[in-house]
Amino acid sequence: MKPPNQTRTSTTQNSSIQHLRPRTENSRDHLTTVTETGKRIWLYPKATTGRFTRYRAALAWVLLGLLFGLPWLEVQGHPVFLFNLLERRFIFFGVEFFPQDFHLVAIGLLSFMVFIMGFTVLYGRVWCGWACPQTVFMEFVFRKIEVFIEGDHHARRRLDAAPWSGETILKKTAKHGLFFLVSFAIANTFLAYFIGKEALLGIMTDNPFRHFGALSAMLIFTAVFYAVFAYLREIVCTVICPYGRLQGVLFDKKTIQVAYDSLRGEPRGRRLRNTDHGMRIENTFPKNTLYPHGPQSAIALPKSGDCVDCTLCVQVCPTGIDIRNGSQMECIGCTACMDACDEVMVKIQRPTGLIRYASTEGIEQGKPLRVTSRTLAYSAVLLGLLGVLAYLLLTRAPLETTLLRAPGLTYQQAPGGMVSNLYTVEFVNKTTQPRLVRLRLVNQPGARLEWVGASLTLAPGEVTKGTFFVKIPYNALTERVLTLKLDVLGADGQPIDQVSTKFLGPVR
Ligand code: SF4
Ligand code: SF4
Repeated sequence: MKPPNQTRTSTTQNSSIQHLRPRTENSRDHLTTVTETGKRIWLYPKATTGRFTRYRAALAWVLLGLLFGLPWLEVQGHPVFLFNLLERRFIFFGVEFFPQDFHLVAIGLLSFMVFIMGFTVLYGRVWCGWACPQTVFMEFVFRKIEVFIEGDHHARRRLDAAPWSGETILKKTAKHGLFFLVSFAIANTFLAYFIGKEALLGIMTDNPFRHFGALSAMLIFTAVFYAVFAYLREIVCTVICPYGRLQGVLFDKKTIQVAYDSLRGEPRGRRLRNTDHGMRIENTFPKNTLYPHGPQSAIALPKSGDCVDCTLCVQVCPTGIDIRNGSQMECIGCTACMDACDEVMVKIQRPTGLIRYASTEGIEQGKPLRVTSRTLAYSAVLLGLLGVLAYLLLTRAPLETTLLRAPGLTYQQAPGGMVSNLYTVEFVNKTTQPRLVRLRLVNQPGARLEWVGASLTLAPGEVTKGTFFVKIPYNALTERVLTLKLDVLGADGQPIDQVSTKFLGPVR
């Protein structure tokens, strides 16, 4: 007999997409969304309701608000976030970073990677299910538009399987038109993070032919986002995303993930509503026939599991897997199956949580989810990493000073019995305010500092070089090589940094 998931295809609109059910049997061995001949199986996930869906929706709207709002926010006239690669301007949370801060970026990236790995070992794919832009946009923007226009899963499947008609053309045009508009909005927002809102507004309001490059970038981004959300969809999570590919090596038996409690759920099967637990109707009875031979015909079986094999958890899955087959790399931890199953459990008057957040070990040993010493230790390390990163960012000097003796020169005899050395200094003003730069000699009595040219005033974000002499009376030179210390003074005359250098004198 033909398996139930391979029953229909004939009148599909698009021959490259197969309107079959996902191949969820033995799904740990193969991609469920690809036929044996390698054709894609298009997914029609059923919409879910339930507490996790509500929590995720609330978070999604907050994240979307932040994503679309942050490029327009300013602090003291400067953007809160900017990643301008061309002009090498990088602003995180209102703090501007410069190429000279590369070490911070390197430490930040390393900490971030360790954090991601530790977090995944501990909490699985919580990021993917709750906060990844791919999931947030797919499930809470594009899927919502699709359901609004084409209806829920059955209606969408019917529409795609039916021959082209006026209704199909209307719905598809409306859906893809909206998809394109949203993709265009995302592309514009994306661009605003790179070039800043002023530049973006300038492009939008100016003659388009004068901004050919930027407009091309905008259209390319739009096309990429449109392709991702209209066609690629779950393929991004199950095949393309490198983080998704890493799950196999990061997960262990203690990792918390969305899991089916097979101890409680098996043996699965249809059951009579309101019968005692342990009674069920065999699946071979025709669908919707609860009492084919009268109520007495219900067959008493040894204790049956709580899973009534309604397949709702499979129908809602956006990656087309059956979580009852065990932990799978394609599971993005979206919790849709948890909500769907909880709804069923409530209906059949069984405890919710047949599919829940749990570790493989917890399921196997029948233990509830608990905060363990491992969880606490890992969490402490993760918090420590974040703390180190925050400390580095918060204690970053507002002015970076690099002081060098002028190359190729030793010392010069100056009038008045003085010995002088020439220095070059480079300042990076890492603030958003102009800054007057001053240096003060600290440890050499009788020494003088003389700028060549005017003293320096740095514009925000400016890198400036200056030259100055240090002159020391010959009689005050106690050694041929002295170590000089210089305070870098802030606007209020207080030292904000200290630098040191060598002073060369004649052999004594
Ligand atoms: S939703 Fe729950 S009861 Fe229904 S098939 Fe899935 S695990 Fe079983
Ligand atoms: S198995 Fe459940 S949590 Fe995992 S992707 Fe499918 S619906 Fe989401």
